[in-house]
Amino acid sequence: MSRPAVFFDRDGVLNPVVMRGDVVASPRRLDEWRLEPQVPELNAALRAAGFMTFVITNQPDVARGLMHGDSLDAIHRSLAEAVHLDDIAACTHDNADHCACRKPKPGLVSGLALKHGVDLGASWVIGDQDRDVQTGRAAGVATILLRRPYNSGSGADHVVETLSEAVALVLQGARSPLFPSNERV
Ligand SMILES: [Mg+2]
Ligand SMILES: [Zn+2]
Repeated sequence: MSRPAVFFDRDGVLNPVVMRGDVVASPRRLDEWRLEPQVPELNAALRAAGFMTFVITNQPDVARGLMHGDSLDAIHRSLAEAVHLDDIAACTHDNADHCACRKPKPGLVSGLALKHGVDLGASWVIGDQDRDVQTGRAAGVATILLRRPYNSGSGADHVVETLSEAVALVLQGARSPLFPSNERV
């Protein structure tokens, strides 16, 4: 029997982004990575409500030679120790690799769904980038975007300020917009 799931984007959702100059970037070493403190509790609430929980993350710095694969593994070991997840799926490719998993393509979501028996029609993506929304839409999953200066909100089912609000929406089962407009104001 397939089950509903929540697919969390990682950077900017479960941990802060790292600013490199003006660029929103990802931690490249374990000492740059810090879990947002409310994540274990929010994740536990979703699991208690019957959701599987996953992380889907683009990590192109591996393909670019800017981050060692061992550092990514160390970060994900720490994440998995702190947060009870069903799986973590990372795309370590760059655009030139033309893989099927780099968001906004749906490969990370569809791959996990196949592997773990996820009911995509009852599932959610929570992200902070427009490409997370595009990924969810492409996979047939409802989408919640955390409002940030670097996203547009376009196409998201919901736009909220915080991860706590996003999880509350999932727990309410509000798969269609609560308000006619979820555009930015
Ligand atoms: Mg992100
Ligand atoms: Zn990939």
